[in-house]
Amino acid sequence: MGVIPQPGILEIKLYQGGASHVEGVREVLKLSSNENPFGPPQSARDALVREAHLLHRYPPTDHAALRNAIAEVHALEADQIICGVGSDEVLTFICQAFSGVGDEVIYTEHGFSMYPLLARGAGAVPIKVKEAERVVDVDAILSAVTEKTRIVFVTNPGNPTGTMLPEGELERLADMLRDDIVLVVDGAYAEYATGYGMTFDGGAALANARPNVVMTRTFSKLYGLGGLRVGWGYAQRELIDVLNRLRGPFNLSNPALAAAEAAVRDRDFASRNVAENARMRDWLANALRDMGVEVDPSQANFILARFKDEAQASACEAALQSEGILVRKVSGYGFPEALRVTVGDESGCRRVVHAVRGFMGVE
Ligand SMILES: *Cc1c(COP(=O)(O)O)cnc(C)c1O
Repeated sequence: MGVIPQPGILEIKLYQGGASHVEGVREVLKLSSNENPFGPPQSARDALVREAHLLHRYPPTDHAALRNAIAEVHALEADQIICGVGSDEVLTFICQAFSGVGDEVIYTEHGFSMYPLLARGAGAVPIKVKEAERVVDVDAILSAVTEKTRIVFVTNPGNPTGTMLPEGELERLADMLRDDIVLVVDGAYAEYATGYGMTFDGGAALANARPNVVMTRTFSKLYGLGGLRVGWGYAQRELIDVLNRLRGPFNLSNPALAAAEAAVRDRDFASRNVAENARMRDWLANALRDMGVEVDPSQANFILARFKDEAQASACEAALQSEGILVRKVSGYGFPEALRVTVGDESGCRRVVHAVRGFMGVE
């Protein structure tokens, strides 16, 4: 008979990451994975090196120092935080803990491609819901809810749309959802949004107030630590306690914990990078619009460039690639006519605009 995997596993299509190499090109400009163009903060590199003499020691299992740092910086409760190997791991725990065979997991049309994979991994059925003009549609989500629904995933700001739910809509969704459904607010790009830390908290207050809401966050984007794999989740204690039962006791290494702690405490790095991202994002979006490419205002560290049709998008991708510039095709996210471009540093953005201008034949 042979070995047979659990239901759903064979339906998982492997995640496609952004490309990182171009044949024959040495100076590749990688704008395909929403990485910080300036790299990690020096404070995080220093902290990582200081851990070298401790590599024979097991790391702490409670991540207390990192959780305390996150809690201080974001004015949160340290015992409501769980740290994972990227926020991906926290999202995996959520699916494993709260969904299984016969259950449904809702995600949106242009949502992160990991959600359906993680739902399948837990044996559940992913249910894709329409968005409204590239914005998460709360009513569409609510009408897709059935008795089998266990989890709803929302990304805010969205990837690859860069758009946010209209003000008050997240609260309305939380109000209207049954309380036995977990609402996941994925805030991978929260820090980049206008008003973050003032009028927008990434979903923290909602996660504080409701027993069924989890906010997830990452060190992979703003903090430039994608290669290190650190993320976290925030929810009421009871929910975090459930997730911690699935977490391996040594899921994060000493160097990863130390570097992430230094990074989150480096407020200077964060504010400089948020400001520079906003400046170049607006410049890039306007330059593309001037050439007739459609770009929604983005609240993240990338823009979604929409072309006339799929053929034009593919041809532009190829033209960029021939100049050593890698961007992301997003057909798998329901946008065959678009390319997602990470906001690079100034010279990177200028290279993109120059190349697209050449491709579009405008001067
Ligand atoms: C990049 C990204 C993440 C973060 O993944 P990590 O595992 O923390 O690197 C989560 N959600 C979305 C929507 C993302 O784009």
